[in-house]
Amino acid sequence: MSSLRITGGTVHDPANNIDGEVRDICVLNGRIVASLPDDAPRLDARDMVVMPGGIDLHAHVASASVNVARRMLPEEHAMDPARAPLLVRDRDADITIPRSGSGGTVPSTFTTGYRYAGLGYTTVFDAAVAPVSARDAHAQFDDTPIIDTGCYILMGNDAYLHRQIAGGEHERARDYVAWLLRTTKGYAVKIVNPGGIELWKRNVREITSLDDAAGDPKVTPRTILETLAGAANALNLPHPVHIHCNNLGVAGNVGTTLDTMRALSGRRAHFTHLQFQSYAGERGKSYASGARQISEYMATHPETSGDVGQVMFGQACTLTADGAVEYLLHASTGRKWANIDVELETGCGVVPYTYRDKAAMASLQWAIGLELFLLSGDPWRLVLSTDHPNGGSFMSYPELIHLLMDRSFRDEQIKRINPKMLAGSALADGLSREYTLNEIAIITRAGPARLLGLSSKGHLGAGADADITIYTRDADRSRMFATPRYVLKGGTMVVEEGQLRRAPQGRRHQASPAYDPAVERDIKQYFGRYLSVAFENYGA
Ligand SMILES: [Zn+2]
Repeated sequence: MSSLRITGGTVHDPANNIDGEVRDICVLNGRIVASLPDDAPRLDARDMVVMPGGIDLHAHVASASVNVARRMLPEEHAMDPARAPLLVRDRDADITIPRSGSGGTVPSTFTTGYRYAGLGYTTVFDAAVAPVSARDAHAQFDDTPIIDTGCYILMGNDAYLHRQIAGGEHERARDYVAWLLRTTKGYAVKIVNPGGIELWKRNVREITSLDDAAGDPKVTPRTILETLAGAANALNLPHPVHIHCNNLGVAGNVGTTLDTMRALSGRRAHFTHLQFQSYAGERGKSYASGARQISEYMATHPETSGDVGQVMFGQACTLTADGAVEYLLHASTGRKWANIDVELETGCGVVPYTYRDKAAMASLQWAIGLELFLLSGDPWRLVLSTDHPNGGSFMSYPELIHLLMDRSFRDEQIKRINPKMLAGSALADGLSREYTLNEIAIITRAGPARLLGLSSKGHLGAGADADITIYTRDADRSRMFATPRYVLKGGTMVVEEGQLRRAPQGRRHQASPAYDPAVERDIKQYFGRYLSVAFENYGA
């Protein structure tokens, strides 16, 4: 039995309507309980800020593409060696062996776990795992200590799904989605550039509308979106379809993003890294901000949710299943790149990238992300991400929180950036909003937990997992959020007095929807006919 009473802290627990109240939080055997005997051990949290552990619902931390990025960045490994932490060895705690590693924009597995926990994050989802490499992703998760994990499985350009859509086999498509999630131990359906990756393999770089045919005339971005969103909702998955829209990065793509939202109007859907999908302007001519249009649409459509994919100045590494985007980035920067065809399933591209504050495009991207945050009417439905490591490393979250909470800090940065493309940007008009601590607790904890359907995460009510972050109050929000004083994961004190002290193994979250087993016979036949991987060797 391990118990702890955290006393006197100022608690921000928006899921339970607690906004900055001084109260005790009681922990027993890894969970939060309503009360404890008076003689239970105490932790004095007076003058400190207490929140649930952070939850990242969109990052790239464990997948075959993440490993490609690691392989491509030896220079970063040399610049940022990470020593094994000095861990305390308690007799009864389930502690992993400390490991050294490397950091940079794409840290090694162990370093990823340590650094997330060091920031007060206790749950992280990888947003793009190709089904054929799911086993690899889970092996990487096994080596990522402390944090709870889970992954979204890439669908929407898989040949088997396209065949079912072409044949009008909607029930079989739904059974296939359920089978695939169970086989790969995935948590949610990820759609990347629906139909567009298949078209990219045929040398088509952009779609002209959601009704472009990807091979068979019945297989279009629209029918793929409808089929997968319908399946995810019919299967009652905890998280709705997680959509990376078509034409990412292309001027004018805000029209495509709005078309996609309208195509799924009335159905639950999550739109990811919206910053990269909110460009007004004209294809081949100019870029401008389309953040206002996206914010206005989402304000009147409660079935939509999103995350921002904020760009932060400095080093990043772009990696995505959307091979066409990486071709565009490579062609415009001349930087090293990888582009991989993942058999009949999806694509993959990687390009290391630097966002400079003197560059007009990076400045516009930075501004659009902040506009999306500052114009958002509902923090529960628009949550924090940098699409790590695409817009910037997760290590930049404290600075991003600072930008959202402190207008003068933001204004100083606005003075430094390249204003060339900022005409019409709401940020240039002087958006004055400052996020409160409670709103930060929503966009980094309570909101992601709700969008993920994780009832025991993101709050501090009785029965919740005892994932708790305790910060020293500090007007410098970058410093405050970069160095939590204490972090508990499942009741284990992983950060103590600002130092990483324990590294238990985290838990894996997966969805296990039911399906008609008859679908397996058909899939097996398909494997025998077309795939290089045996049915028996597939999955996690
Ligand atoms: Zn992503």
